[in-house]
Amino acid sequence: MQYDLIINGAGPAGLMAAAGAAEAGLQVLLLEKFEDISIIRRACCQQFVMDENYEHENIALEPGRVVFPVNGFEVAYNGPLHAITETRFASAAGRTVRFRYADGRPVAIKFDKGLLLAGLLERCLRAGVEYRNATLVTAAVDHGDHVYVHGVHDGKAVEFRAAKLLAADGVNSRTLASLGMNEARTHFATALCIIYELEGVRDFDPAVMQWHMGMAYGSYAPVILDPSLHGSIADLVVMGSDQQRPDQIFEAFTRTGPAAGRFKSARVIGRTACTVKAFTSLPVPWRGNVLAIGDAAAYVEVEVQGALMCGYHAARAVAAELQRQSGFEAYTQWWQDSFEFNSPEALRVAQGYALVPTYTDEEIDYLFALLEGSPLDGAYGQYKAPRLLWDGIARHREKIAAERPELIEKFAQNTQMTLADTFS
Ligand SMILES: Cc1cc2nc3c(=O)[nH]c(=O)nc-3n(C[C@H](O)[C@H](O)[C@H](O)COP(=O)(O)OP(=O)(O)OC[C@H]3O[C@@H](n4cnc5c(N)ncnc54)[C@H](O)[C@@H]3O)c2cc1C
Repeated sequence: MQYDLIINGAGPAGLMAAAGAAEAGLQVLLLEKFEDISIIRRACCQQFVMDENYEHENIALEPGRVVFPVNGFEVAYNGPLHAITETRFASAAGRTVRFRYADGRPVAIKFDKGLLLAGLLERCLRAGVEYRNATLVTAAVDHGDHVYVHGVHDGKAVEFRAAKLLAADGVNSRTLASLGMNEARTHFATALCIIYELEGVRDFDPAVMQWHMGMAYGSYAPVILDPSLHGSIADLVVMGSDQQRPDQIFEAFTRTGPAAGRFKSARVIGRTACTVKAFTSLPVPWRGNVLAIGDAAAYVEVEVQGALMCGYHAARAVAAELQRQSGFEAYTQWWQDSFEFNSPEALRVAQGYALVPTYTDEEIDYLFALLEGSPLDGAYGQYKAPRLLWDGIARHREKIAAERPELIEKFAQNTQMTLADTFS
């Protein structure tokens, strides 16, 4: 049997694409390696980013649904929500930069990803998607007029055939690797991440997400204390690498770092982990009959809301391709316009990423102290918050030039850095 479309991966991108394509009348097969997608095993903070115009969209959370007014679709969601109204960057000496909106609206909103995915799966099944869980995709081959997908189910080899294929199998996509579609991408680094669920963190404010920045905290990457959906339980997000393992960072952060006092009575009640291969994005995310969507094609991550948008547009793109229209090209245009990481500009975000260890802990204390009294506009996004931070610092340029001229030199050097430099 030949399907119109096979989708590898039932994350938010794959599920949304499957629902949209089946609702448009296509015969769809959705393959997923896990048995139950409503159990979230892969580390994810599970919050919607509420930055204005984030990914060229302004999502709205309405009773029973998440609305995407710019892209023109919605997704059902009836689960719990929890608002975060402030992002805070803290230096080693406890100097803080705050990001919040003057009117108190949230910078991010927590949701239950498992429920969201389960709701989407139900929608897929209602629309007639054939769903094969517990099926690991191992490779794909594009034969020009059709595609084969090879996998393993219950210890046995399986293969399926379709006219078109969506690679929606996430940031470490096996589909793309097997097709050689990652060959032109730069692989910057492989990050190891653990999110610890903690009870009993002292002075924990469930409306604030706090980023700890400085070598004293034991990590190059910020260690993030994030509220969970469940009031008094906090999530501690630790990102490391083979050289600087997340469990070692966790020990240093909670036992000896400047914030250790808050964790004296804390207890780990759960953890999720993941590996993230950081590639440059695929500016043209398709080849032949295969379109890569969501994290599979991204620089690090599109976030859940971006993945849903990818799935929505991918379903339309495949339907158009099957009508002999250039749906993949239209998708590519949308993809390039919507995600900041696709612009050459974004690859010069060194300032934001290079805070640690480019600047010493003492220098970060000094810079954060300049901004401590006046909160910056609300922000959560990985591009907006660093930009606001550095714009804020730039407003104190004369003072810095008078007091710390060597920092002005350092700023000039760092704006010349590329993203690759910051990872090296
Ligand atoms: C530490 C961390 C924190 C994050 N926090 C947030 C957050 O707060 N908010 C937010 O919106 N996003 C967050 N994200 C990002 C978010 O998880 C992703 O951007 C989003 O889930 C991408 O969706 P996707 O459908 O493209 O891929 P995924 O969600 O990765 O889905 C891919 C699917 O494919 C399946 N799969 C993978 N390989 C195979 C295979 N070989 N065969 C069959 N199936 C396969 C997987 O099991 C999975 O179901 C975070 C990510 C990390 C790492």
